[in-house]
Amino acid sequence: MSAQTFMIVGASLAGAKAAEELRTQGFDGRVVLIGSEQERPYERPPLTKDYLRGESEREKAYVHAQGFYEAHEIELETDATVTALDPAARRVTLADGRELCYDRVLLATGAEPRRIPVAGADLDGVHYLRTLADCDALRERLDTGGRVVVVGGGWIGSEFAASARQRGLEVTMVDPVPLPLERIFGPQIGAFYRDVHRDHGVELALGEGVEAFEGDGALARVRTATGRVIDCDFAVVGIGVAPRVDLAIGAGLEVDNGILVDETLQASAPSVFAAGDVAHAWHPFFGERIRVEHWSNALNQGPVAARAMLGQPVSYDRLPYFFSDQYDVGMEYSGLPRRAGRRCVHRLLAPRRTRGGGHERQRLGRQRTRPSADPLPRADRARRARRPRHATRHARRRVCTAKLTETATRWPRNPTRNGHRGVGGSNLARHASRQLPARPLLRTALDDIRTGAIAQARPPSTRLKR
Ligand SMILES: Cc1cc2nc3c(=O)[nH]c(=O)nc-3n(C[C@H](O)[C@H](O)[C@H](O)COP(=O)(O)OP(=O)(O)OC[C@H]3O[C@@H](n4cnc5c(N)ncnc54)[C@H](O)[C@@H]3O)c2cc1C
Repeated sequence: MSAQTFMIVGASLAGAKAAEELRTQGFDGRVVLIGSEQERPYERPPLTKDYLRGESEREKAYVHAQGFYEAHEIELETDATVTALDPAARRVTLADGRELCYDRVLLATGAEPRRIPVAGADLDGVHYLRTLADCDALRERLDTGGRVVVVGGGWIGSEFAASARQRGLEVTMVDPVPLPLERIFGPQIGAFYRDVHRDHGVELALGEGVEAFEGDGALARVRTATGRVIDCDFAVVGIGVAPRVDLAIGAGLEVDNGILVDETLQASAPSVFAAGDVAHAWHPFFGERIRVEHWSNALNQGPVAARAMLGQPVSYDRLPYFFSDQYDVGMEYSGLPRRAGRRCVHRLLAPRRTRGGGHERQRLGRQRTRPSADPLPRADRARRARRPRHATRHARRRVCTAKLTETATRWPRNPTRNGHRGVGGSNLARHASRQLPARPLLRTALDDIRTGAIAQARPPSTRLKR
């Protein structure tokens, strides 16, 4: 039996999957998994979707069943925060004063919501959504009904707005950017989602930021930069996240928009690794560092980091993959959005109902783009040229896929049940045909996404597979 201690700081998806992988790979030393939250590791996507709306059990959100950690002799410490890391001494200090030694440590400390720096931001009724506890508080608000202002038209804001509408609340979305998701996908997809939200009754105050939250002790209204006043019972702020790097900075690790790691997920100090939202990792295919704030990245990077901790020859070269569900519209993309100038093949798939009542995939668009100039700096190009051959082989087998799909295809449900009558049972093509001819919309969507990567085409049915 190994006498080594492998420690994981951050007991969420990346950390929990890393702990699981250590045992799967036969590591029989100590595995210590430390997390600040009171919960055992859970997944966050349900917190803007089914769990938030009260449609799924809490148990479904957890990464592992109750008893898993005990059964696999993983020492899970919840409600415990690591306050300092000393890579030279291979030791961490916890908030309660304890000091624990490790042989290898994985930092999976994730990200935290950016706070909005305006007057009244600390009023009761101004919410953020990152943890199960945040979600529980918002579930209670949704039960009460009323009016909510959603600040931010990114993923969290858009998904929360959709769920709140599905629960029957009056929703106003405020964002200084003119279209939801425009920062990520550009104007065409942004316009598509604007219309989806508008069709579902979301009031849009786009192109104007929040100037102040106002109220006497508790939030009563939001004032926008143009002077508009929106009465509300509560607000949800979703204006992005920042990687949690305090520990890494204190430890003297190299940090720049996350913890800098190489393709084996090794940080700048020996025996220290990082994975998930906090890792700014060298990607052998893109030939540059990327930090990905997506579920699938945490899911897959954790286990790769675990194998790196075991000294196995690994290289994390999976392409970023993201999914979003809003009303009955689902979207998936692979690659890096908004990267122009790279060679790639896009394919766009949307569902089509068959006579038998089932669905089959319909190819709606395909496009190749070639780079006009290599956008990478010379030093990075040289590094990319040295990438391992398997990364190139991998890449050849892949095609870049952007998919806009219908949630109902994967999770069939009664379209009127959640009150989204307007587009019940519709899909992107049908939405598009009401607003724009389908093909041009899809083509421009492809232009717009410009994943700039060569990504794996995989049917959405495999999306939630572990
Ligand atoms: C509401 C919501 C909905 C989402 N929906 C989607 C979606 O639909 N699709 C998608 O692809 N992605 C989605 N995401 C993103 C996805 O959930 C994240 O990418 C993923 O959770 C990252 O996992 P992680 O383990 O890297 O970090 P995190 O989940 O951020 O976990 C880090 C953990 O480390 C703990 N921690 C931090 N510092 C310390 C310390 N010093 N000591 C001890 N513990 C510490 C934190 O408390 C936290 O529990 C969503 C995120 C949110 C918040």
